[in-house]
Parts: sequence; structure tokens; C-alpha cells
Amino acid sequence: MIERAQALAALSCNEFDLVVVGGGITGAGVALDAATRGFSVALIERADFAAGTSSRSSKLVHGGLRYLQNFDLGLVREALLERRLMVALAPHLVHPLPLVVPAFDGARPDRLVGVGLNLYDVMSVDRDRLRPRRARRAREAGEGGTDEDLRPRAGEGESWSPERHRVISGEEVCELLPALAGREPTSGYLFYDCQTDDVRLVLTVLGEAERFGAVCANRLGATGLLERDGRACGVRALDGESCETLEIRAANVVNATGVWADRLTSAAAGGEEAEHSQGESRDGRDLHRECSELPRIRPSRGTHVVLAREDLPLNGGAIVPAGGGRAVFALPWLGRTLVGTTDRDYDGELDHVRPPAEDVDYLLRAVNEFFGTGLSVHDLAGAFAGVRPLISTGDPKKSVDISRKAELYEASSGMLTITGGKLTTWRRMAKLTVDRLVERDSRDAPCRTHEIPLGQAIAVDELPQVEGVPADAYPALAGRYGHAAHEVLALAAERGELAQPIVPGLPDILAEVALAARREQARSIGDVFFRRTRLGLLAAPELHAGTDARDSGMDTAADPVRRVAGVLARELAWDPERALLEIERFVAEAGAEGIGGEGIGGEGVGGEGVIGEGVGGESVRSGEMRPA
Ligand SMILES: Cc1cc2nc3c(=O)[nH]c(=O)nc-3n(C[C@H](O)[C@H](O)[C@H](O)COP(=O)(O)OP(=O)(O)OC[C@H]3O[C@@H](n4cnc5c(N)ncnc54)[C@H](O)[C@@H]3O)c2cc1C
Repeated sequence: MIERAQALAALSCNEFDLVVVGGGITGAGVALDAATRGFSVALIERADFAAGTSSRSSKLVHGGLRYLQNFDLGLVREALLERRLMVALAPHLVHPLPLVVPAFDGARPDRLVGVGLNLYDVMSVDRDRLRPRRARRAREAGEGGTDEDLRPRAGEGESWSPERHRVISGEEVCELLPALAGREPTSGYLFYDCQTDDVRLVLTVLGEAERFGAVCANRLGATGLLERDGRACGVRALDGESCETLEIRAANVVNATGVWADRLTSAAAGGEEAEHSQGESRDGRDLHRECSELPRIRPSRGTHVVLAREDLPLNGGAIVPAGGGRAVFALPWLGRTLVGTTDRDYDGELDHVRPPAEDVDYLLRAVNEFFGTGLSVHDLAGAFAGVRPLISTGDPKKSVDISRKAELYEASSGMLTITGGKLTTWRRMAKLTVDRLVERDSRDAPCRTHEIPLGQAIAVDELPQVEGVPADAYPALAGRYGHAAHEVLALAAERGELAQPIVPGLPDILAEVALAARREQARSIGDVFFRRTRLGLLAAPELHAGTDARDSGMDTAADPVRRVAGVLARELAWDPERALLEIERFVAEAGAEGIGGEGIGGEGVGGEGVIGEGVGGESVRSGEMRPA
């Protein structure tokens, strides 16, 4: 990505066809789709890219077997088609994952699950394989068929498609789920979904959008719409670093702010932060008009916990019953085991969503009962929570029962709001939005994102060996960056100290920190731990141990937080005082994310953490930075 200063200069000097507000997967997707159709695009993100829900998902690119229960067949079908396409477009980032529903005590696997899996198979493969052929036949017979149906898809012919689900033996279950060996499963269903690193997917899509000319900047929050004759003509934005305001002029505005979608728009329509450059009235009618054209978000919180692989070894995913007819996933992810998620209505603060003690207990209880383990909160390697941007229909349904479908809203100012949906369906959401813009401009510009590779996949053995880089870093780098892993290794070769791991024993290396600052607009320690590497999710105790050492005056040379601060200080020209301030800010952010001093799921959840007290318990947004 281009440097942030360069992006800011371009945003204030130019006029764009489109400004996208929000740098999660939805905003990134809209930016890519529009840029590839010839629109000039600006994208602004108030905090850090993917700081919202897009860094807090279960990391699955999936159809969602659960949604079959709600008869959301259209959503499942769409997501399954996207799943297959994502593996073709970004094989290094989105990869198949075997999942198991085990059975015990000689019982046959549940028939009803088998029926659901049958449907899942049919929806994911058969019709999709037939689609191009069918469309071509229909075309030849003069029955229509869209261009997109006919176009060969990326990697078609050799692209991944899942094997049909099947019943496997108890031994095979144990090979995939060694953690279950003690319970001696007798058989199980095996099926497939896909897995990713959600933040990396966002950064990769943004990188592609930039390749097609989009200009993207983080720490730039829209505070209101610019309007001319009642039509949106850009946004006013606040630079979170300099506290300066700038106007970004654009013929179209897309609001892709996820769970914040109704906040931005009500502010734009007359809330305290609203701005109207052309003296547009801000009376009650305007507010009513805008609000009635916009979604009402009903946030639902989901929590995950992370365990060491040694404590819960898995080679595939497990569907774990959690009581009350619900199930959670236990998944291998980046060398750890990820367990989640919960699904509860939420009306708390959106900028930092802590994993509450009750959710952590619920997940641990489900795991302990199912695997026969005795894991407690003290065994956690991490925990995180996020909020789903569900759209309220006014119906008092439980959040689990609300559809995950995306919705596009058009306000009378012309501003489009796209929200709801899933990580998996980002491309369809982007297409829906940009199709509307194309229609508005009467352009002839069909969607192309189904054929645009995301990043450049690379085989691990294509990477050069660099002295000091641990062996397990190579596959991790290839998976995270694809071809761009060469750049990380070049940095490690140039400055030997950057070859070292950030946290001893884990594959992430210090050269990634330098790359994050140079190429990915990382501006804070939190950006590096939560959203460039995922160590904030995977190694919370190790990050906290450094805090203890800092407090007690022990040797801090090995403290991951200090090491990252040191690399960022050099890249971003921080003086020692600024570096210390940034460490305090990270400590506050970790506290606000619930991985601070009081421990995960501890008593302090929801209040100020011990760690947070270090900076007076001030509240920070993810990735937010104030002037030093
Ligand atoms: C617990 C959980 C598990 C999930 N698991 C899965 C899964 O496994 N698979 C799947 O497909 N989906 C999953 N989802 C759903 C998926 O994560 C979301 O649908 C998706 O990430 C939403 O992306 P988004 O870009 O719309 O929103 P966000 O990622 O929240 O992005 C919105 C962005 O807008 C920014 N913003 C807000 N206000 C402003 C402003 N005024 N100016 C500029 N920027 C602003 C925010 O900082 C934020 O970064 C899960 C969701 C949750 C909560």
C-alpha cells in the first residue's frame, strides 16, 4: 500500500468518482470492485484497517451449515459458491479445512446432520460445475445467461472443490481430532469448509484495490457528508493523527461501516458531528428522512477463546455441542486452537468489545465436556470478541435467528449503505453496491472481481533461506504474504536482528513489523499485534509477561512489546519518549480488548483493567492514535 502521508495528499487534492467509508472487508471489497470497473476510488478508515468486525470473526470462509437450519438456502448457496471462488483467487490465504462431527459409544452419526451435509454437498458443487455449461447452452438456445456465468473463473478446471461428506471410522476421527482420543469416538461425519486469516484477507483486497488505482488511508474518520443540492458529494473527515479536518470530494459515497452504519448516517443527516458544506438545512425532517432510508443495526456479540495446540491438539475442525441445541467450532488456526463462537444481543461499547467472563466460561465448559479436558481460564493463549452487524427487522427474534443476508440501502442524498452479510460474501456485497453505481452512471462496466487473483500465491520452497530466520517462519510467511514474503525476507537479510521471532517459539518475525510500517500503514504497536501479525490473539500471556517485567524493572530485552516498539520507532521516527507513550497506549488497548492485567475473562471484564490503569484507564479505539 502507499504511504499514509502520500494517501492523505492524494485524498485532499483530487476529486473521486467514489469515496468508501469503512476499511473492513465490505469497504475493501467495494473499493476493489469499483476500481476494477474504472471508477476513481478513495477509501477511508477511522481506526485501523479491519479493526472492526473483520478482525474478530471465526476465520471461516464457509456456507454456514447452521444457516440451513433457518432455511436461509439462498445465503448458504451464495456463500458456498464464493468459498470455492476464494480458494481459486487466493489459494495461499483461503484453504480447505476438514471438519468432523463425531459419534460415540457405537452410535451412528446423527441422520439429520447427514441430510444437512447432503444438501451442503449438492449446493456447493454439482450445480456450480454445471453452471458455465448450462449458461452456455442457454445462451446458444437463445435463453440468456449472464456474462459472468459464461466467463471462465480463476483457476477453473483445476480449482478446489470439496469432496462429498462421508462417514469415517473412529481411528480417522482421532487422526483429525487427536484431542478426542480419550473419548474413543466410534465414527463421525467428515466434511469440508475453508479457513483464512480475516485481517490478511482485508489487507490483500485493499492491496489489489490500490493496484487498480484506489487511494486508501487509515486513521481517517468520516464525520459527515458533504452535500450539494441535497446530493452527497463527498465526506468531511477527521485525521486521527494530526486532528486536522479534510474534505474528500467524490461523486458517490458508500457507507461500509458495518456495525457503525446507522451511526455515521444519522450524524450525516443532522447529528452533532454532521457537516453540510452547502448550507443544507438540518431540520427534523431531514433526520427522519435519512433514518427511514437506512438500516437499524442490531449488534450481536460473538466471543472466541484461543488455546495452545498442546492443550487441545486438532488437525481438523470439530463441531462441539454447547447445550441448548447450539454448537461451537473448535478449529486449528495458526498453530493454536480457536474455539467459538457465542451469539448474544449486545448494547455495549462498539470500539472495544471485551470477551466477557460468562462467554469464556460457556466456551470452556463446552470444550471440557466434549473433549474430557479440564481447561480453565488460566490455560488460555488468548480471547477476543466482535460484534455482528445484523440488520434489525423490528422482530424480537434471537440474534442467532436473524438472517446474515446483506442489504443495500440508498438514501435520498444518494449515499449507499451496504451492511449485514458475512466475511465470506464480501465480493457479492461489493458487486451489489457497485452494480448500483454503474446503473446510476449508465456505464458499461461489468463486475470483474471473480477473475482477479488476490495477492500472488507462492510455494514455500520458492522462498530464499535467510540466516537466523526460524524454519517455521517460512510457511507462515508464504501463507500470510504470498509472493510479498520475499520483501519480508529481504529485510531480514539486510538487518540480521529483524530475522528474530517477535515472541520466542512463534513464527512471526521482526522484519514483518518493519514491512507493516512501510507497506501496510501500521502506525501503532496494537496494529502490529492485533492486525498485521495475530499475536495479540494468539499469545496474550507472553505479551502480558513483558508488562510484568517492565513494572518490576526486570530485564526487558526479550519483551515482545518493547521489541516491536523498537522496530516501529526506527520506521516511524519516534523518539524514546514517544516510544514509551506508544507502549502505554498499547497496554491500554490490550486492557480495553480484555487481554490486559486482570487476565482474560477476569473480574475486571467490562471495567478498567489493571493494565488500563497505567494510563489512567483512558478509553482508546482499536488502532486509534492521538497526536503525541
Ligand atoms: C464473532 C463473529 C464471528 C464471525 N465469523 C464469521 C466467519 O467465520 N465467516 C464469515 O463469513 N463471517 C463471519 N462473521 C461475520 C463477518 O465477520 C462480518 O460480516 C464482516 O467482518 C463485516 O465486515 P464489515 O466490513 O461490514 O464491517 P467491519 O469489519 O466492522 O468494518 C467497518 C469499518 O468501518 C470503520 N468505521 C466506522 N465508522 C467510520 C467512520 N465514521 N469513518 C471511517 N471508518 C469508519 C470501522 O472502524 C470498521 O473498521 C463473524 C462475525 C462475528 C462477530
